Amino acid sequence: MDKFGVLKQYFGYTDFRPGQEEVIDAILERRDVLAVMPTGAGKSLCYQIPALMLDGLSVVISPLISLMKDQVEALRSSGIHAAYLNSSLSRSEYADISGRALRGEYTVLYVAPERLAGEDMRRLTEAVPISLAVIDEAHCVSQWGHDFRPGYLNIASFIGALRKRPATAAFTATATAKVREDILRLLKLKGPLMISTGFDRPNLYFEVQRPRDKYLALLECLRARKNRSGIIYCATRNTVEELHRRLGDRDFPVTRYHGGLSDEERRANQDDFIYDRRPIMTATNAFGMGIDKSNVSFVIHYNMPKNIESYYQEAGRAGRDGEAADCILLYSPQDVRINKFLIKSAPEKPDHSSGGAALIKHNEELLKQMTFYATSSDCLRSRLLAYFGEASSGFCGNCSNCDTAFDETDITVAAQKILSCVYRLKERGARYGRSMVIEILRGGGSEKLRRAGLDSLSTYGIMVGADPHRIRLIIDELIRKGYLGTEGDEYPVLCLNEKSRSVLRGETKLVMMLPRPAVKTGRPVQAAVAGTVAAADTAAFPIDEALFSRLKELRSSLARAAALPSYVIFSDAALRDMCRRRPVTAAQFLDVSGVGEVKLRRYGEAFMAAIREFDRRDAEAT
Ligand code: ADP
Ligand code: ZN
Repeated sequence: MDKFGVLKQYFGYTDFRPGQEEVIDAILERRDVLAVMPTGAGKSLCYQIPALMLDGLSVVISPLISLMKDQVEALRSSGIHAAYLNSSLSRSEYADISGRALRGEYTVLYVAPERLAGEDMRRLTEAVPISLAVIDEAHCVSQWGHDFRPGYLNIASFIGALRKRPATAAFTATATAKVREDILRLLKLKGPLMISTGFDRPNLYFEVQRPRDKYLALLECLRARKNRSGIIYCATRNTVEELHRRLGDRDFPVTRYHGGLSDEERRANQDDFIYDRRPIMTATNAFGMGIDKSNVSFVIHYNMPKNIESYYQEAGRAGRDGEAADCILLYSPQDVRINKFLIKSAPEKPDHSSGGAALIKHNEELLKQMTFYATSSDCLRSRLLAYFGEASSGFCGNCSNCDTAFDETDITVAAQKILSCVYRLKERGARYGRSMVIEILRGGGSEKLRRAGLDSLSTYGIMVGADPHRIRLIIDELIRKGYLGTEGDEYPVLCLNEKSRSVLRGETKLVMMLPRPAVKTGRPVQAAVAGTVAAADTAAFPIDEALFSRLKELRSSLARAAALPSYVIFSDAALRDMCRRRPVTAAQFLDVSGVGEVKLRRYGEAFMAAIREFDRRDAEAT
């Protein structure tokens, strides 16, 4: 069977998402891979599909126990032979699974990094050919990442000791160059396919609030999201405890998770959340890595995290099913002070030579970027994407800044001024980049400008007093729309083209969405009001909500009977697709997104019966 066949039969999808196919092809050609993909992009399929197509065993090294349990449950529910080896197993379970693995009963085996050096693994790898080694959350190998795990340093020697070196595929959502270099070096990847899919998650709505009273703002947010599942992240255990108590007193279905609870309680609470018995989780950042709950519909940060990577990873736990979801940051300047303190007092990492002062400085810089995000009036999504090195339009229309702080602005005159400045420069045989053009327009007085005599240009100072950032946004827009050209890669200079002329001649009127000019009161502009409902419903047309709730009920009862989380049976997105298609035959049921052959066999009849029943009543009622 080819990869498309596997995609449909086991996972029930018809199309690959960006990047998935390239990664799968590389692995099938036995090539190493380093794939940088954001949370929710679909990394798992990238190795699960080749695992099903290659002979031998695929070993997946993954840092957290909860992740393994989830992934294995999901794989089994799709009819794939999978298991995990980690410290959560009893001795006899461990022996049982090791034995089955030795007999070649598994396609995919998840292993905690600490287990790699063990005797069981040695025996296993001598007996069973390993066709693929997968390193999930590969940034854990780097101390520049946000969750360094010493166990990850053993991975390269484990792979190096295998009789035949398997294709090695590393996955992470962390994109910085430093981390990437560490992954390549410390995992000893050989000529890998390097791939970075876009970081954008169009179904996520980003919002920053700077409320006077965070707790009241939080209540607003929760009231606007009744019956939805979400996570509230706090900086400290104390805050988790406090919110958990106060929200519990108000009868919100909350649970909690942090490092101060016993293993048992953490596991129980996590299950309450995953199984939707308590769909609101208050937690520190100890919670969530590897939580694969796909119907999380909001992530609220009660405190600002220490860097954008952590923020994007945590916020990205919302909306994995592709449905509209909200990521809300409640910011106060106090958050910056706490983070600064935490960075300074972080313990030195003994197993690393560097660190210390350099690491502190590095972390302070990352905190600064995070603070820019929280206080910016630019499009939030563009800010995030820019951090990950991705260009975007500067206006996404699906974040709180775009919603509240942008105006459609006529930029024709500003564009004419910019273009004439480039024109006048060209007359003098000179070409400059954006910064110099902006400085000329604003009548700046730098040494470089004066020495080049640019203060005698007729366009010198014609935009005096204008916000340089705004001019830059306009220039970028002109470049994107093709009214202004650039030459050179590293230090591009601006140049005119055919389209520029029509603007200069006044034949073209230009408008764009621009941040509303800041009111200079010395106080931050109040960000979006609470309770904004997510825009951009991903569904093409509305579904029958009554049928949707009926199918959700059915899913819950099947989930209870099988002791599985609901979303392992079907995601909300799959149920919505059922509501749209109303399948009543096996072939129709297979067309539903997220339905593969095993799920058809296991659940098809029950869901089709419910749909028939619903249609019959519908017909009777009309
Ligand atoms: P990641 O590990 O990158 O955070 P996952 O592998 O957990 O993301 O995938 C996120 C969700 O997207 C899962 O519910 C998965 O079933 C779904 N998904 C993955 N690939 C596809 C695809 N090609 N088509 C539709 N849904 C997909
Ligand atoms: Zn935006």
